[in-house]
Amino acid sequence: MTDVKEIIEIMKSPNKKNIEIVTKAYNAAFNAHSMQKRLSGEPYFEHVFDTARTLAKLSMGAKTIAAGFLHDTLEDGLITKDDLIKEFGEEVVFLIEGVTKLGKLEYKGVERHVESLRKLFIATAQDMRVLIIRLADRLHNIKTLKGHPSEEKRRRIAIETLEIFSPIANRLGIGKLKGDLEDNAFPYAYPEEYKKTKELLNTKSKVNKKYLEKVRRTLQKELAKQDIKDATTDYRIKRMYSLYKKLLLNNMDIDEIYDTVALRIVVSTVGDCYRVLGIIHNIWRPLPGKIKDYIANPKPNGYQSLHTTIFTGDGGIVEIQIRTSEMHSEAEHGIASHLAYKEAQNKKTAGAKKEPVWIKQLLDWQKNVTGTGEFLNNLKIDFFKDRVFVFTPKGDVIDLPEDSSIIDFAYAVHTYIGNHISSAKVNCKMASLNTKLTNGDIVEIITKESAHPTSKWLKYTKTTLATKRIRAYEAENGSKLKNLLPNIGRHRLF
Ligand code: MN
Repeated sequence: MTDVKEIIEIMKSPNKKNIEIVTKAYNAAFNAHSMQKRLSGEPYFEHVFDTARTLAKLSMGAKTIAAGFLHDTLEDGLITKDDLIKEFGEEVVFLIEGVTKLGKLEYKGVERHVESLRKLFIATAQDMRVLIIRLADRLHNIKTLKGHPSEEKRRRIAIETLEIFSPIANRLGIGKLKGDLEDNAFPYAYPEEYKKTKELLNTKSKVNKKYLEKVRRTLQKELAKQDIKDATTDYRIKRMYSLYKKLLLNNMDIDEIYDTVALRIVVSTVGDCYRVLGIIHNIWRPLPGKIKDYIANPKPNGYQSLHTTIFTGDGGIVEIQIRTSEMHSEAEHGIASHLAYKEAQNKKTAGAKKEPVWIKQLLDWQKNVTGTGEFLNNLKIDFFKDRVFVFTPKGDVIDLPEDSSIIDFAYAVHTYIGNHISSAKVNCKMASLNTKLTNGDIVEIITKESAHPTSKWLKYTKTTLATKRIRAYEAENGSKLKNLLPNIGRHRLF
């Protein structure tokens, strides 16, 4: 069941060196976890094996797959860092350490500030591959959630997966991973809604498939007649959780949703995509407002396809998606395919493929990286490098510019808190107000009615919000402030 050959067969570029790395990691992980069992009683090794297999399926490189095998060894103290470096080199260990660090992040108050939590997660990961290993790790955990003894925890893990993990997979354009994470988490997060959605989908998709089959037969003949070569047609059934989200927007009315089952046509060129669209509209009447050209205007995560919805003429309505095979694999693998290129040190980027802007920026930035420690920067995540994400004691995330101080934090929470800072704790320790905050800090502000801002604070603020509020306070209380200054001194910490 857990044979390394299976992984090697899936691997995209299994040259001798890559097979050696992966096999060595397989053996080391197998030995390290040999005595461990999961909560469900299964051998622990199955968890890391499945993580590595998911990474191989995403066409990730050998080092990433190796790190997938070894991702729990450091945290569990099964192999020392020194031994790992000796055996696998710094790059693999950097990835393992990143995954370990990410695992320690707690998502207190998940329902609040989820967008900031996602950013914190990405910023902490530092490297795309760390992020993807963590997603693959989570996928196996959520697939085996049944074995978790606590119902409350099962629910929390499932919701966290839907709120934090799958949106990141989506952002990275890895549609397959996003869908798998969501559909495995959905029944545990919202059991009732899951049941209802499943029933609706089953009834609806049966009817829909009947219409689709007719459309497909007609279309195949027509495509052959018009000499469109290599066109393949297929169904895609809408993923359960994404259907649920759409139902929520439509008062749970399934008849408003036309893409429960969609016909998917894959052709070889972009020109053929538009020709096929023309052929379809020539035979069937399209629903107005439902034609979407994601080829000319890709979605932010890079997704490309043409979508149209047609009246089948006998009462049915069917969505059709048209794309090239390249767009198809891009939609499934997203950034993962670009990373494999990078790890293999292939100088070519992803060819003429159109990348999402943020990926392009990332790749451009990497080209300019020189000097020592290069591999660390190789696939470094840069888009949040100017931000820090810190927690309130309640677990809310506050998103601040880099080099922000406790004063900036206090004003970001509330003007009153900023105007009455008496002292502060960072990670439970007293800290002076000019302390610069770093990612993941938990910041607690102690206020006093008698405490007030001083103009000295302006030296320690980074945000315009804090600067403005302090100036406003001074303007309002200017004369009072001067008179109070000797008193205020007692409250100042620097
Ligand atoms: Mn794990």
